[in-house]
Amino acid sequence: MNSSSLIRMSGIILNEGKGILILIAVMAMVILQSCKNRQKDKSDEELMKMAREICRKDLIIDSHIDWPEWVSHFPEDISKRTKTGDFDLERANEGGLNAAMSVIYINSDIALEEGRRLVDSLREIIGHYTETYPEKFAEARSPAEVRLNFSKGLFSLPVCLENGSPIGDDKEYLNYLKSIGVVYITLCHDMTNQISDSNFDEDRRWGGLSPFGVELIHELNRLGIMIDISHSTDSTVYQALRYSSAPIVATHSSCRHFIPGYERNLSDTLIKLIAEKNGVVMVNFGSMFLDSTCLRNCNEAIAYMTSNGINIYSDEGAEYLADFVKTHKVVATSVELVNHIDHIVRVAGIDYVGLGSDFNGVGPTQPSDVRDVSAYPVIVFELLKRGYSEMDINKILSGNFMRVWDEVIETGRKLNSGLV
Ligand SMILES: [Zn+2]
Repeated sequence: MNSSSLIRMSGIILNEGKGILILIAVMAMVILQSCKNRQKDKSDEELMKMAREICRKDLIIDSHIDWPEWVSHFPEDISKRTKTGDFDLERANEGGLNAAMSVIYINSDIALEEGRRLVDSLREIIGHYTETYPEKFAEARSPAEVRLNFSKGLFSLPVCLENGSPIGDDKEYLNYLKSIGVVYITLCHDMTNQISDSNFDEDRRWGGLSPFGVELIHELNRLGIMIDISHSTDSTVYQALRYSSAPIVATHSSCRHFIPGYERNLSDTLIKLIAEKNGVVMVNFGSMFLDSTCLRNCNEAIAYMTSNGINIYSDEGAEYLADFVKTHKVVATSVELVNHIDHIVRVAGIDYVGLGSDFNGVGPTQPSDVRDVSAYPVIVFELLKRGYSEMDINKILSGNFMRVWDEVIETGRKLNSGLV
């Protein structure tokens, strides 16, 4: 089809620059549609091949992997294929993952000093890999460093802190966290802390952020550390959005739309507001975050095991679960996972969504076809099947999160130089 027939088709009279712009827009739509059609014409096998190729050559960053705590409990060498857990370098390479935001996870009932010791010991575990295998792993304190590592074939292990409780009431400690490479802080975990209310806790003593939490937001902005609102109450998110000079991130949260009333997932209103501030929502892969039946059944199984003192990772736990899943749906699939991505795209746009698996943190509830870090091509396959372009997929795989991270660092730089 030539351009003049396009113009006739759309009834546009080309007489000025505006007409040219409309023509470009129409042509872009035609090209986009033909790409979508081309993808639709492909067999599943061809699409999977495309997906694997995209994952091999594009940068993939996962914003939440709980591997350091996992390794502290199940010591295995993640530079090789491990028997336990969802993350190791071999499987990451198979899946095309290039950077794992490495979470220092602090349980909510840990006291301050113990929490700080835990920060150091989990940080050491991350450091062990970058120091022992400099030819495989590297630290990364900025998107630029992630890109540089990527270009050298090195796997990035940026350091993150899930739960700000070890900060206590000491803003100075933030400087320490910055010095050890922490690039984002999840304000709280399952319990309300000195910074903010938690969405798993009935204690809503602050009505959102505490007065110290508000101060902390400013300090995090100044230090160029990303603010993660996964686990925060709605009020906390509204206030973080109001007080932060930089975009904010949900590093491992999905959409409340699919599980009405579940505050751990984000409402459409909050997704839109996070997007309006140029932030990003990173979809959690855990089936209980993806599907309401899975959530209900997982809760039932967890309640039974807790009340009977059964460890989820013991043989007894595995046996109980194996029986339970015969009659109960507890795991979703990549289709439901991509439904969440689709929903965020519909609500806020393609620039505000990414992948925050929560691998090693969601127990055995990963989707049946996205069990570990080797499975990113399965997600990309589903995106291709739905007609997403490679450019859009690239935004989901890393572009959106990297943009936000860059902007947070830039905001810190401006605040420190008095430019804002
Ligand atoms: Zn979490």
